[in-house]
Amino acid sequence: YAGLIAIVGRPNVGKSTLLNALLGQKISITSKKPQTTRHRILGILTEENRQAVLVDTPGLHTEEKRAINRLMNRAASSSIAEVELIMFLVEGTHWTQDDELVLSKVRQSGTPCILVVNKTDNIPDKDELLPHLQKLGAMHDFRDIVPICATKGHGVDTIRQLCLTSL
Ligand code: GDP
Ligand code: MG
Repeated sequence: YAGLIAIVGRPNVGKSTLLNALLGQKISITSKKPQTTRHRILGILTEENRQAVLVDTPGLHTEEKRAINRLMNRAASSSIAEVELIMFLVEGTHWTQDDELVLSKVRQSGTPCILVVNKTDNIPDKDELLPHLQKLGAMHDFRDIVPICATKGHGVDTIRQLCLTSL
């Protein structure tokens, strides 16, 4: 049995970086430039008799003027509707209108969702993290809230275990 998990979030939060860290492979292109991921990229996590298929998605965003943006939003939205578990990535430091859009799609889907707070290395004062997590946690009934730093690999093992055990 292989469960399907989508990694969603606005552009540039680190979705592809997280997928690569989870797999230990550079399967998905990462970039400082937003919208590098234009299609859904699949990766497979396997452990004994459990398997999770991870779907990296283009970032969801509110700017839909260009056709390519509409296409990417559609690819990300249909992933949210198809999976059994959502990994919703946000940044540790700020919440934007695009995050709000992703949250509304998560709510609409009714799919169980784990909130992953990435780029914790950008939070200068670690005392700020807990109140921030509590504020995010109050917005939705998340399965779990996990702070990580995808580039340094902090929290990545926790996410891998959650992927394999939450299905
Ligand atoms: P995506 O658009 O959500 O797939 O984002 P990417 O994975 O392409 O990452 C966007 C940028 O954020 C890249 O420059 C990454 O190196 C950077 N990034 C990803 N994770 C972290 C992190 O934990 N800390 C910091 N400081 N940068 C990160
Ligand atoms: Mg990407």
